[in-house]
Amino acid sequence: MTKITFLGGCRQVGASAVLVEQGGARIVMDYGTAFNGTQRVPLPTSTRNLTSVLTHAHLDHSGNLPMIAGSQTHSVPMYTTKLTKELVRLLLDDMIRIGGDSLAFERTEVKNLLKNTQTRTYNESFQVHPKMRVTLHDAGHIPGSASILVETEANGNGAARIFYTGDLNTTNTQLVKGAPNPRQLGDLDVVIVESTYALENHPSRKNTEKEFVKNVRKTLENGGTALIPAFAVGRSQEVLTVLAQHRHQGLDYPIFLDGMARKVTRLMQGQSKSFSGGEKFNKAVQQATFIRKHSDREAATKDPAIIIAPAGMLKGGAAQRYMKDIAADAHSTVFLVGKQLPGTPGAELLHQRQFRTKTDNGKPSIVPVKAQVESYNFSCHVDRQDVINFLRQTRGNPKILTMHGDAAACESLAQTIRNRFGFDAVAATSGQTVTIN
Ligand SMILES: [Zn+2]
Repeated sequence: MTKITFLGGCRQVGASAVLVEQGGARIVMDYGTAFNGTQRVPLPTSTRNLTSVLTHAHLDHSGNLPMIAGSQTHSVPMYTTKLTKELVRLLLDDMIRIGGDSLAFERTEVKNLLKNTQTRTYNESFQVHPKMRVTLHDAGHIPGSASILVETEANGNGAARIFYTGDLNTTNTQLVKGAPNPRQLGDLDVVIVESTYALENHPSRKNTEKEFVKNVRKTLENGGTALIPAFAVGRSQEVLTVLAQHRHQGLDYPIFLDGMARKVTRLMQGQSKSFSGGEKFNKAVQQATFIRKHSDREAATKDPAIIIAPAGMLKGGAAQRYMKDIAADAHSTVFLVGKQLPGTPGAELLHQRQFRTKTDNGKPSIVPVKAQVESYNFSCHVDRQDVINFLRQTRGNPKILTMHGDAAACESLAQTIRNRFGFDAVAATSGQTVTIN
């Protein structure tokens, strides 16, 4: 009998963690934090014969891992790709620098986690316990990202093949190719699938890029700054690669990179051979100027230029500082390139044209915004049509469990899959255990 327990990440985006148990062996797939950073995920009931596997570096999948795979009281090995390991090192260090005492772990746990981490390449099957094998498959989400295939073995009955998508994208982006057809995985018993955009379809990528480049150019020609607040891991590098390809089509202006995006870019540059868009990305990095000191920042907004800076939803980071500088300038434009969750400064900026920040002496202030604000969909997740297509192509009539989306998205995807294709599909609930065989 194989047991799957959802420790977190159900009917919400954030705090993803799924436990698989078979014959005394346990494997936890992802162990992330909620986006507000406060939510703790329950620990697996036992750490005996426990292994952890990580899909990718984003903190909603990795942010709590030091709690189990970095613990000083028990030893839990961790497996992931090489690039993800390096990104995790960077992100967790940064998390400690910002979060300090409010976190449930310290530098020692992060150090242990990295020491306990073994890296694996895509499609390389490896044994984590005598009765459990794991394979990482390219998930097409960001460089280094993987989906996880767990194969449990049993004498007689109880064997199962479980596929956990993690964050999945089947569409090609500048940095990575879309995830391959799931048919190549063979017959599956269970698919645990993300549902982030299960209620909407993305516009065509090509048109989004075209429109984005056209409007960046317009801002620059009008003498303004094009500020692009973007997530440090993945989105900043994707947008940089898009822009660099249009240098000779009227975009021959300086491109500045600031904040955490700089370190992540350097790291990805060092491992650019490991993702399909690596060569293109390396060329793009050569077009960018890395901000080094405060005076560079001031200079960056003086003349028309493109600035890529985290945070993606303007919750802190270098983007906030630039926003203050350009808010009153009607010639400048803020290009939002990621989802703006309700309650974030980015959402307020987009819908109310105002910017919530702090004055230099720390007092809260609301700044009216004269700069233009535009939003573009550069999603690196499957949309409704993509995820339905993906599931339709799986073999073996697997049980489908949806997670990593709000309740409506998870339920709608499960219902569609059930009604349209006759799969046994349910929206999982955090804390729920599902038994196979
Ligand atoms: Zn992600």
